[in-house]
Amino acid sequence: MLSYTEAAACVADYARERTAGRKPVQAELAYACGRVLSEQLRADTDQPPFARSTRDGFACRAAEASAHEFLSIAGSTHAGQPPAGPLPPGAAWEIMTGAPIPAGADAVAMLEDVESSDGRVRLRPPHTLHAGKNVVARGAQAHAGEALLPAGTVLGPAQIALAASCGSAFLPVYSRPRVAILTTGDELVAVQHTPGPGQIRNSNGPMLAAMVVAAGGEPWLFPTVADNAAAIGGAIRQAALPAAQTDLLIFSGGVSAGKFDLVEPALAKSGAEFFFTGVRMQPGKPAVFGQIQHSAEQQLAGFGDLLRSASKDEQRSPLPFLGLPGNPISTAVTFLLFGAPLLASLGGCPQHGPHFIPARLKEEVKGKDGLTRFLPALCDFNRAEGGWHEVEIVPMEGSGDLTALARSNCFVMIPEGSERLGKGTLVSVLPH
Ligand code: AMP
Ligand code: MG
Repeated sequence: MLSYTEAAACVADYARERTAGRKPVQAELAYACGRVLSEQLRADTDQPPFARSTRDGFACRAAEASAHEFLSIAGSTHAGQPPAGPLPPGAAWEIMTGAPIPAGADAVAMLEDVESSDGRVRLRPPHTLHAGKNVVARGAQAHAGEALLPAGTVLGPAQIALAASCGSAFLPVYSRPRVAILTTGDELVAVQHTPGPGQIRNSNGPMLAAMVVAAGGEPWLFPTVADNAAAIGGAIRQAALPAAQTDLLIFSGGVSAGKFDLVEPALAKSGAEFFFTGVRMQPGKPAVFGQIQHSAEQQLAGFGDLLRSASKDEQRSPLPFLGLPGNPISTAVTFLLFGAPLLASLGGCPQHGPHFIPARLKEEVKGKDGLTRFLPALCDFNRAEGGWHEVEIVPMEGSGDLTALARSNCFVMIPEGSERLGKGTLVSVLPH
């Protein structure tokens, strides 16, 4: 059985190979945040497109102004007016922030640094100016055609602003990976139903759908799948139809060693290749990862129309799958550790994570022999005592304790081999 570190490396290697394998789509600027650019962004013009003043004041020749003689005011330009001038010798030109510098001027004296008399101005001694002061030259930030953002950039507000300044109302981004979510369990009823004796509501379905959205994917939540091989096999075939365009298959439940844990056998029957079956971690030990081929046409009597609508020339690479144990805390932590990085990668993001943050333990925590532990915890991300956040473990009643999960905001990692970690120890924290 792989250690957590080995399993994470296995997922990361797979993820790396799959980065940027997706089709680009055009995203409207305001909705492009968090998505990944599929082509580089180039400057459409010089940036800035004209030499511009960074201050309210007077455009002038630095050498003349530094002589501290009074200069006549030859004109005025405010932001939005076309470039004016030329600036006559021995003169200054009133100018506002963002306005084009008049021809002939090489600097701007700040309003605060000048004195005026009889409609003339002079730079107050001992202030001096050098050429270029308070002026951004045309093309100083970028030249027309220059690459500003490489493909693979995760778009945030700053990159969106830059794209807007280049006139891109839409940006080419990788499409969101489509994730089929198969929750298994005879005990599960849908949220809107009242559980009968021995039944519980399916909370993993909505949780995983939310986690998929947060990780940049598009969830496709199947109705609950019963604990029988035929039902699981049927759901796998449907999710793996080429026309379904699934990029990742996620199972919740049915991957442990119990009599009704039938996901692994069903996957094996579908010809799955397993990269790992079980990880030395707690919770999450039964997690499985692998890939299957998309469903073949002959297996799919009754899906003919769907198949015909799938593009013939599209040779799809195998479909990765993750089988996550059904206990909600196990499901959450294994999705965060393995599912989210895979999704980020399938969505074209090279920085796929998981992204841990260091924090100091508020109390002693015990390790587990031969297992990496992940404990729901509450980290004070608003404060950094002595430069570090502080984190405390949330008490819980086993890995099914949704109330503990909902009170936490992160998982603390206790690496395999740690007997006990004392108060104040620096640990890795994974926000959720
Ligand atoms: P399993 O991984 O199928 O052995 O399930 C482990 C535990 O998680 C059992 O107590 C299940 O009832 C519970 N469980 C499984 N699937 C879900 C789900 N979708 N929502 C909430 N609890 C679940
Ligand atoms: Mg089950």
